[in-house]
Amino acid sequence: MKVLETKNLHKKFHKLEVLKGIDFSIEQGQVISIIGSSGSGKSTFLRCLNFLEKKDKGDIIYQSKKVENKASSITELRKHVGMVFQSFNLFQNMTVLDNVASGLRIVNKMEKTKAEETAKEVLEKVGMLDKANEYPARISGGQQQRVAIARALAMSPDVVLFDEPTSALDPELVAEVLSVMQDMAKEGMTMVIVTHEMGFAKEVSDRVIFLHEGKIAEEGTPEEVFEHPQNERLQSFLNSMT
Ligand code: ADP
Ligand code: MG
Repeated sequence: MKVLETKNLHKKFHKLEVLKGIDFSIEQGQVISIIGSSGSGKSTFLRCLNFLEKKDKGDIIYQSKKVENKASSITELRKHVGMVFQSFNLFQNMTVLDNVASGLRIVNKMEKTKAEETAKEVLEKVGMLDKANEYPARISGGQQQRVAIARALAMSPDVVLFDEPTSALDPELVAEVLSVMQDMAKEGMTMVIVTHEMGFAKEVSDRVIFLHEGKIAEEGTPEEVFEHPQNERLQSFLNSMT
């Protein structure tokens, strides 16, 4: 079953056409990676998917239903679509535990003890339970990103969107985050991952999309995209990555 789809998605910033008709869909349990040069529209695409940016044209379809551009529909969508950002975006004035529990309390109106219990379970999953009472500033970037992933997971999302989750990390901290993401993939989480980690994308993805100048220039299995790229732009992009 398709979890999330876009049809003919368009987005402009003033005169700059950033997305020029994206047709996309992800099935339950699938992992799709999106690759492409800086400025090709990857973040804008992810942000449009959960209405952090307002699309200009086209449809966003969640669980076979077109998402209306109104607050109640958007709030409902966001309950089920998790997002992990490059810059973690944790609340600096809250402990790790509160960062993870707050969505459950505020959005899901869960009672405090229950929310904290759930938060601890997901923190355990990402190997961060021992830092539950720390503040974000006192843990490493890799640890912060694992907390951000736990925060997304706490909401039991149907799909999680990742926007270059390891790009802000020191190289030695990348592996711990990728490892958590790999575990999620193995457990059947539906994931859309914008990444420059080609080795990871190749290993974990069911499909790979190459975005170029706001269009899907190529897509296929990791084998097709990485071993037998057809598009010239994709070929030179992949060459530039090695
Ligand atoms: P990517 O994530 O692939 O690097 P982005 O989606 O961030 O690309 O950006 C695509 C293009 O849109 C870039 O030229 C960028 O400068 C522009 N852009 C992104 N966000 C905004 C914004 N809020 N206002 C104006 N231009 C933007
Ligand atoms: Mg980006």
